[in-house]
Amino acid sequence: MSGNKKLESPAGSLPNGGPGQAPDSKAIPVAPLSLTHSRCPRVDIGQHDLPPLPYPYSALEPYIGRETVRIHHDIHHKGYVTGLNQAELELSRQRDGGDFALNRYWEEQLAFNGSGHILHSIYWTNMAPPSARKPSPGEAMLAWINISFGSLDGFKGQLTAAAEQVQGSGWAALVWNPAWQRLEVLQIRRHENLTEWGAIPLLVVDVWEHAYYLDYQNRRAEYLKAWWNLVDWNDVERRMALAMDSCVPLVR
Ligand code: MN
Repeated sequence: MSGNKKLESPAGSLPNGGPGQAPDSKAIPVAPLSLTHSRCPRVDIGQHDLPPLPYPYSALEPYIGRETVRIHHDIHHKGYVTGLNQAELELSRQRDGGDFALNRYWEEQLAFNGSGHILHSIYWTNMAPPSARKPSPGEAMLAWINISFGSLDGFKGQLTAAAEQVQGSGWAALVWNPAWQRLEVLQIRRHENLTEWGAIPLLVVDVWEHAYYLDYQNRRAEYLKAWWNLVDWNDVERRMALAMDSCVPLVR
């Protein structure tokens, strides 16, 4: 496809000059830091809960089976929440006692379980029963996809390829990168390693075998084809609107 194709801009007015212009922190008004700065809820140390599935176990059928969803949510996801709480409490005990001999281990547990909890929570909410989902991106979302990837088909091809090709257990993710104000697709090979600091995940697909083995055995590509029938663009667009409230200034 043509590299200098004129890309359509999202509908409506764009803050901060819109896409294509480097963000300039001087031009961005920001309230002084305070304890009430964020409008997002805080989770206290060691107090994470397993979020309930937003639909019954069988709601993703025929694409993902009831048993897969039950085991994946109630056992795998719950394990990350338990591990995250434990890591946070152990790190807190270390700080209180001043003995950091096991710090590296608990930091790894924090990153592994914390990433697992966040990614699974996004994964569940990214999907909806086939009858209840928004089956394609709305006008503004589509415009951002075009600016970032050239086309919807290009984006879907890249996300599917990233998920098919990521080695072993892993994920593929659509992320908002606040540093260059564009969407990107990233592979997440070891999810305890943040692959691009600052990028915010919007749409994630779990390609660990537990996500599809009961239904598709080793046929990951078949699972991915089915998974696209569950993606709820209402959720992706809500996540993008929230992510775009953040800035990562690249200049002083
Ligand atoms: Mn999983």
